[in-house]
Amino acid sequence: MFASVIIDQDTKALDKVFEYIIPDGMPIEKGMRVFVPFGNRILQGFVIDKQYKSEYPSEKLKAIISPVEDFSAIKPEMLELMNFMCKKYHLRMTSILRLFIPAEMREGKVKEVFEKSCRLTDENVEISRGKNQIEIVKYLKEHKEEKYEKLKELFGYSSLKSLESKHIIEIYKNQINRSPYVGEINDKKIKLNDLQQRAVDTIKGDDTFLLHGVTGSGKTEVYMHLISRVLKQGKNAIMLVPEISLTPQVLANFRARFGDKIAILHSGLSAGERFDEWKRLFLGEAKIAVGARSAIFAPLDNLGMVIIDEEHEQSYISESNPRYDTHSVAMFRAKYNRCPLVLGSATPSVESYEKAVRGEYKLVELPVRVNGRELPKIQIVDMMMEIRSGNSGIFSNQLISDLASVINNKKQAMIFINRRGYSSFMMCRDCGYVAKCKDCDVSLVYHKEDNKLKCHYCGKQYKVLDVCPNCGSERIKEGAVGTEKVVSELKKLFPDVKILRMDNDTTSKKNAHAKILEEFRSAKPGILVGTQMIAKGHDFEDVTLVGIVDADQSLYHSDYRSTERCFQLITQVSGRAGRSKDEGKVVLQTYSPRHYTYKFAANYDYKGFFRKEENIRATAKFPPFTRIIRILFTHQDENVVKDELKVCYNKLLKVKEKYQDEIIYMDVMKSPLKRLQNKFRYQVIVRCKLDKADQIEEELLEQTKDAVKSSVFFEVNPQNMS
Ligand code: ADP
Ligand code: ZN
Ligand code: ZN
Repeated sequence: MFASVIIDQDTKALDKVFEYIIPDGMPIEKGMRVFVPFGNRILQGFVIDKQYKSEYPSEKLKAIISPVEDFSAIKPEMLELMNFMCKKYHLRMTSILRLFIPAEMREGKVKEVFEKSCRLTDENVEISRGKNQIEIVKYLKEHKEEKYEKLKELFGYSSLKSLESKHIIEIYKNQINRSPYVGEINDKKIKLNDLQQRAVDTIKGDDTFLLHGVTGSGKTEVYMHLISRVLKQGKNAIMLVPEISLTPQVLANFRARFGDKIAILHSGLSAGERFDEWKRLFLGEAKIAVGARSAIFAPLDNLGMVIIDEEHEQSYISESNPRYDTHSVAMFRAKYNRCPLVLGSATPSVESYEKAVRGEYKLVELPVRVNGRELPKIQIVDMMMEIRSGNSGIFSNQLISDLASVINNKKQAMIFINRRGYSSFMMCRDCGYVAKCKDCDVSLVYHKEDNKLKCHYCGKQYKVLDVCPNCGSERIKEGAVGTEKVVSELKKLFPDVKILRMDNDTTSKKNAHAKILEEFRSAKPGILVGTQMIAKGHDFEDVTLVGIVDADQSLYHSDYRSTERCFQLITQVSGRAGRSKDEGKVVLQTYSPRHYTYKFAANYDYKGFFRKEENIRATAKFPPFTRIIRILFTHQDENVVKDELKVCYNKLLKVKEKYQDEIIYMDVMKSPLKRLQNKFRYQVIVRCKLDKADQIEEELLEQTKDAVKSSVFFEVNPQNMS
């Protein structure tokens, strides 16, 4: 027999299938990892296929040395998924396969997935030699069986080995319990309302459903009921939530409901913990995978449901190698398992909603909050008017007076500002010099607390400017406000109130996140200042006011998606207010109070916003009505990228000629972010009509194959064009 093997080395040159002989009697299956001779080294590889015949003469082929584990770490579905992802994202096979198994299993580390146990072959055996051996026999008579690792720890390896060689004990792999889960599920006695129940009843079969429910409409409860149903059918489920929504509160809710049937994959886990969760899923001990993006690769078969909560979130798109979009992977898995895919959101992406309008997705709606509460009133405050009336501070008079009354009533407020640090940049007032990162060509952010300038792209830190390095001036100006500055200004206004800050800087330590939230929960009155992190998932009943300090910040980006993102953010943040008996209010500060995005957001008119946005995109020929393809070239040496790109672009122009009616736009340029982590970035942007888009994509890709020195990334409708 012969095996097709992919070598576990992530290089362009090895991105192909190699054939090896399977020695007679060696139990090799598809999906197994194997040790193979390669050149004069021994490397690990993945068996992706087995055949009886080989095209190559067998004397030319080498033989597999041994399996890495005696089971297939890559299940058949995942091999198919690899093929799908290869084709769709033009990725190397190895980089895809690596997504499917935890890092702990790779890098030459051999890990026991199945635990070994020991028992006596004859329970009445008596032995008289070797102190440890006698102890082991005594122990096993008492305990009947014990984990191999534990016995090894207690009595040592050699005694166990010699007992095994004398057939006094046997070492066996524990049986995996794959029987479907039939135990009681704690439904916490929450009875779904009619709308929720209808949603649960509608979601079945093998369609894709868009669950559009306002914040607080009980979507999470719907997911939980769907998952319970899946478990009762003896099947498994995957549920994705954005990393920042994996709050302790959310995790606790899931654990309370599903106990140890659930495996949670989040970034707070160590490599070892991650491996343990993977193993529980792989062995069928856990039946529900809940986690951020990468949980879509959970090693579960027999899926009965795939759920993507907050489906519009940008974090579902992997923007670094390997680049993929979670929706398509989820869709593949749902189709493979013939189960429903549920995309849930209060503010679906324009792309998804458009599919629902066209009938490609089935639309399920939850238009009201469960407790009958009104959504909080959003008041738009014109900051130009504030300046005209003499207030040049970062808070409007309205926000200050609303904060004062929250404090009087011993309630809570959240203040949202989507920029961490103190101020966005430091600039010389005299010559215009702006402090930038040496490696990234982006301006540095001032962090007052650490008294440092930091690069938010690579993390490098620099000394704060006292004088301008360019002209020596001491007149240094700070840029737009960040979380630190908002906190320090609030402290001046309300010195006796507890004010907490939540952003990447205050939550980098383990459990810091939970601690801040815990502290806020009991701070009455209290104010929580934060970035996107506070925008979702939190359920604080005493929050009666939400302030959005600088709403325009997400509105004016060069990106066609920035209005959509702005709308989403306002809706999400507003959803934090008035979740319980007290009415909530939102103060939205802007310099463009008449922008349509704010009008629709203030009326919670998602459909109105969608229609407007759909119109604009159709007229301007942007996705979802066209496809944007970005081909990004990066290299440390600017000349290398430029030269390769030049050659390549001439070939791309031929494709443009061929499809002159379909390609609306094609141009080559420096990326807006010219340099990142010491690599120069150039890109080709193509916009084309949809009908021949696949074909065009394929041909464009073909023309980039000769660029071997630069790293080339291919992206479709990129989330981020910088
Ligand atoms: P969403 O995810 O749509 O924002 P959640 O699922 O978080 O909404 O629900 C908001 C709150 O309402 C939660 O505290 C939840 O426990 C509660 N809830 C959901 N459904 C019901 C129901 N049918 N009856 C009572 N409370 C409910
Ligand atoms: Zn200067
Ligand atoms: Zn940098």
